[in-house]
Amino acid sequence: MKHKITFIPGDGVGPELSDAAKRCIEATGVDIEWEVFDAGIGVMEKYGTPLPENVLASIRKNKVAIKGPITTPVGTGIRSVNVELRKALELYACLRPCKSYKGVRSRYDKVDIVIVRENTEDLYAGVEFEQNTPDCKKVIDNINSLSKKRIREDSAISIKPISKSGSERIVKFAFEYAVKNGRNKVTCVHKANIMKATDGLFLATAREVAAKYEGKIEFEDRIVDNICMQLVQRPEEYDVLVLPNLYGDIISDLCAGLVGGLGLAPGANIGDNAAVFEATHGSAPKYKGMNKVNPTAMILSGVLMLRHIGENDAAARLENAVKKVIAEGKHVTYDLKAERTDPTAVGTRQMADAIIKAL
Ligand code: NAD
Repeated sequence: MKHKITFIPGDGVGPELSDAAKRCIEATGVDIEWEVFDAGIGVMEKYGTPLPENVLASIRKNKVAIKGPITTPVGTGIRSVNVELRKALELYACLRPCKSYKGVRSRYDKVDIVIVRENTEDLYAGVEFEQNTPDCKKVIDNINSLSKKRIREDSAISIKPISKSGSERIVKFAFEYAVKNGRNKVTCVHKANIMKATDGLFLATAREVAAKYEGKIEFEDRIVDNICMQLVQRPEEYDVLVLPNLYGDIISDLCAGLVGGLGLAPGANIGDNAAVFEATHGSAPKYKGMNKVNPTAMILSGVLMLRHIGENDAAARLENAVKKVIAEGKHVTYDLKAERTDPTAVGTRQMADAIIKAL
């Protein structure tokens, strides 16, 4: 069966990494017709927006996309294309598996954690009020009249909405993922001891959902600061983590560090009507065009995509080829060598070639 998939190369190191992933995916023999679209600061002049409607329309139609990282310039008014994409398509679940592969130099060798991050609300909702603006003043006045706690007049405000329905669907997603993928435990991560309203609702909802899986999937909860320490000390004790947006973002990078770095951490943003596959890392602009960074995270995002479209055999073959190349440690990028300056490190393209050869 032919699959139609939207392909967004991204910017910074995005184009070289997504090209490597595309070549590896194609080499599995799966029949794919790509619809290529650009997004980000580079298309601003042409379309007046970094996320043109034709990109969204293509993903809505094909229901599946793979994208390279896209830069969010600091200090301009442009909101993150990555965040906007997730919001526009209601891609409420961010799935980030972090698994130890043999041959990767890391302090740990038995990590197999799947992060399920809520993708649409929390402090990422983008509801913000800049300091000294009339709207910000109105918000502060309102809050000060409603709450016994006082907000300083010279504050800026970012709103943290967490809904019952949003919490319910993400926790349900985590449990369903656990059931379908033979996992044993879901851990809810929160700060409900301090943010009793928002994180309290997230935790209470998680407990309600967990009750429906009693006897099938174990459930526990951890306070976010505590789990940071525990993940560093005993990561092998964790299985599936479900978290609100901001904690999910931070813990994703922590877990990527446990398994050898951002170059190895794939991801998927999944909703009821579409899914966008992308690495956890960003566009690493300082390495742009250097054929240097590790394509593994992007290729493993392709593995997740192949599984999502039901091409399980191709997914398994591609993951095994990645494992083999990493375990051999010969045709790998600088970040997988013992010394980062190792002259035997290969480039992005050459590592992808070795993976294709190992298929
Ligand atoms: P980054 O992930 O781009 O890079 C941080 C560092 O991690 C790099 O300097 C590099 O040392 C290492 N790294 C990242 N990817 C690697 C790879 N494939 N192989 C080897 N090493 C790798 O994070 P940043 O510098 O904070 O962000 C750069 C830009 O990317 C920002 O504009 C940010 O907004 C954007 N970003 C985009 C996404 C996305 O597209 N989903 C995600 C995160 C950040």
